[in-house]
Amino acid sequence: MGKPTGFIEFGRELPAKRSVEERRLDYKEIEPLGTEDSSKNQAARCMDCGIPFCHNGCPLGNIIPEFNDAVYEGNWEYAYQILSSTNNFPEFTGRICPAPCEASCVLGINKPPVAIEFIEKSIIETAYEKGLVQPRIPNVRTGKKVAVVGSGPAGMAAAAQLNYAGHTVTLFERADQIGGLLRYGIPDFKLEKYVIDRRIKVMEQEGVTFKTNTHIGVDVSADELLKEFDAIVLTIGSTEPRSIQIPGWLTYLGKGIYPAMEFLSQQNKRVAGIDRIADHRGDKYQNGEILATDKNVVVIGGGDTGSDCVGTSNRHKAKTVTQVEVMPAPKYDDKKQPFYTVRDESTPWPLWPLTKRTSTSHEEGCERFWSIAVQEFVGDGQKLTGLRIADITGERITDDGRKVSITENERVVPCDLALIAAGFLHPQQGLIEQFGLETDFRKNIKATESSYKTSLDKVFAAGDCRRGQSLVVWAISEGREAARKVDEFLMGESFLEAKEVGIFNPAFAQA
Ligand SMILES: Cc1cc2nc3c(=O)[nH]c(=O)nc-3n(C[C@H](O)[C@H](O)[C@H](O)COP(=O)(O)OP(=O)(O)OC[C@H]3O[C@@H](n4cnc5c(N)ncnc54)[C@H](O)[C@@H]3O)c2cc1C
Ligand code: SF4
Repeated sequence: MGKPTGFIEFGRELPAKRSVEERRLDYKEIEPLGTEDSSKNQAARCMDCGIPFCHNGCPLGNIIPEFNDAVYEGNWEYAYQILSSTNNFPEFTGRICPAPCEASCVLGINKPPVAIEFIEKSIIETAYEKGLVQPRIPNVRTGKKVAVVGSGPAGMAAAAQLNYAGHTVTLFERADQIGGLLRYGIPDFKLEKYVIDRRIKVMEQEGVTFKTNTHIGVDVSADELLKEFDAIVLTIGSTEPRSIQIPGWLTYLGKGIYPAMEFLSQQNKRVAGIDRIADHRGDKYQNGEILATDKNVVVIGGGDTGSDCVGTSNRHKAKTVTQVEVMPAPKYDDKKQPFYTVRDESTPWPLWPLTKRTSTSHEEGCERFWSIAVQEFVGDGQKLTGLRIADITGERITDDGRKVSITENERVVPCDLALIAAGFLHPQQGLIEQFGLETDFRKNIKATESSYKTSLDKVFAAGDCRRGQSLVVWAISEGREAARKVDEFLMGESFLEAKEVGIFNPAFAQA
């Protein structure tokens, strides 16, 4: 334990975010790096708990008290070794993870929790700055060939781990660049793309082969892949968006109504200076440019994707930005009643708290409404002009046994751009059908969490395409775990670190 009295002496302090006025003018990240002293003080707050619940809260099993201690001691190299032993990409999670570890931190029972995500970002950025992030090239190659399909965080993690194990790995991606939703979903103001490029360079030096613009199932068939490779890991994400089939949907789709991902991926391409506007699948985009400039924007859906649409619309200089959500507003507002002061009874500590969250995008300007039924897209037949909505005030059972909402206060709100951020249903089915894989009741690829093995021998699945739309931290965790299972399948045993070990093992540290 770094400093026994640290949690009494220091409060939780994070570097000040860039002002709303400044950040609305660009797509640069919002949170600057902290100073070395600020990282050490924050690490000093860790109590090195006998049972570190933070560690359990992290899907990667990050060994948090140990790296906090190393940061407090100023031993950045050791901190980096500990962190990188469980997390291939702390530069992603240190920026955009919702930090379930912090929600389960023991200090967070009645005080602001340890700023674990900030410490994680400090460690990895210091490691890059000090030249500690060096390629880990395996000493021995096994001669086994593995194909990883889909280059989001799950595919990148699986590829990195399988390469460390000595296999010859090719990572296929249908889009023109590597990164999955990190690249063409999550806006630059949350994750600048040099962060992905920097990591890809390291992975290339380590020996991973990247093949972009290669749509498996179209450019290369499932059969060809099965013939050429000893094992295949599918990490194709969950990219089939939920539609809102209410009156007006078919009339105005592409004429004012757009899936959020088309809007967001176009903007990421614009920031990257890629003038070819394609959607996140890399397909040529059919509907022209989608801009929120001078428009009344309504974002339908209250999650992360919706919030990213809010931030992007404000940067486009939309006339108004409104976000509507079908679910009721959570009882507690995390801005006014942080989760360490009061928790919803449904999610006591150390669970992820149910609260109303205000993202950096919401801070930049947006009206938010909960318990909203979206009833009709309204327009002149050519162009969307409004959205008919109503407040949901209750539920009733119909004569034929269906549950329907009771609504009141029906009105039309001005809307010339409706962005659909109502979630994702499942992975696209084409490749799954070509392989002939079994799917679960949600149409995700069927593969258990203990084996990651699909219904087809030598084919594995991980990330959103297996567990459904989730988080980057879960995608990395699944990619790592699946890689270990593939290694076991190919070699009979695996020396890749297992999540459940949970103790820092220097044998797995970077050289
Ligand atoms: C707008 C948005 C914002 C988000 N914000 C956050 C956030 O702030 N924090 C967080 O933790 N999570 C966030 N998420 C969720 C997170 O991005 C995903 O859970 C994560 O990226 C899933 O990783 P994955 O590797 O499983 O799939 P993906 O990232 O979806 O990657 C799948 C890749 O497979 C490729 N692919 C698919 N089929 C084929 C094929 N047949 N051949 C070749 N390539 C193929 C796709 O092109 C894609 O690149 C967000 C999601 C969205 C949509
Ligand atoms: S639960 Fe919080 S205080 Fe305890 S070890 Fe983890 S980070 Fe430190």
